[in-house]
Amino acid sequence: MPRVAKKSAKPPERDILKLIPASEHRPQPSSRRIGIHTSTAGGVETSAERAWRLGCNTLQIFSSSPRMWRPMDISPKQCETMARLRAEYDLKPLVIHANYLINAAGTNPEILEKSVSALRAEMQRAISICSEYVVLHPGSFRGCSREQGLNNACEAIARASDGLNMAENGLTLLIENTAGAEFSLGSSFENVADLIAALARKIPVASCIDTCHTHVRGYDIVSEEGYAETMRQLDATVGLANVRVWHCNDARAACGSKLDRHEHIGKGSIGLEPFRRLLNDPRHAHAAFILETPIDEPLDDLHNVEVLKALVS
Ligand SMILES: [Zn+2]
Ligand SMILES: [Zn+2]
Repeated sequence: MPRVAKKSAKPPERDILKLIPASEHRPQPSSRRIGIHTSTAGGVETSAERAWRLGCNTLQIFSSSPRMWRPMDISPKQCETMARLRAEYDLKPLVIHANYLINAAGTNPEILEKSVSALRAEMQRAISICSEYVVLHPGSFRGCSREQGLNNACEAIARASDGLNMAENGLTLLIENTAGAEFSLGSSFENVADLIAALARKIPVASCIDTCHTHVRGYDIVSEEGYAETMRQLDATVGLANVRVWHCNDARAACGSKLDRHEHIGKGSIGLEPFRRLLNDPRHAHAAFILETPIDEPLDDLHNVEVLKALVS
């Protein structure tokens, strides 16, 4: 019976550590910092070996389970191993994507308290593992006004980072633009810029711009003129120098659809050319380009990294 066969079949191996032996790894150098959201299965420090095996020179990870409140501890030994591997493989920056449950913009006091503690723990782990950036979605202001949501977010983030000495520890919080779902804060560049401006007095803060979110929110990054205009708007609000990380994701949905579904590079409604333009734009030379593309088939991660690297001229 097919049902039995399906049940007993082992899912295909997806871990790059098992798919590409170290002896077969041939990294191609790139003049851009290119990486992918990398698995930490077996401990956070194992991600460095995976990133290198995937041909990356930067990486993004979750520092604990992204959909659970329970924090995870990182031991000094793990931090040491991570630092050694990053130096050996020239992996920088190390970006931590914050837990998806965190909502700093909301009004529910219980969620807000949990969010403050979880964000604080994210930043403490980031400091202990010498990560340069924590990426945060600004959250949902359902139940209050956008203005109030922005104030909530600003206050909650300030509380979460109180006394952490982020500047001395080399940590910057990056506010990510969102796809524009109802009540989501930060779907416009103005929103992201407002939050950064409000926080800049208190902590080191900059931004992470996601190509899929930008596109489905309705900004044109596909046509040449559209790209020029969108970059002009981004520069006038957030400032291009403040975009430290570009999340490079193609989109399954159309421009303006507000549907956040990431697609393989070149296979979606954005297509290859806009990524070539982005990667080779000298105004983004300081930034890291990090994929958050799906792994539908084994080696999809490796393939997307190689596609992105091949676009750099
Ligand atoms: Zn993203
Ligand atoms: Zn997304």
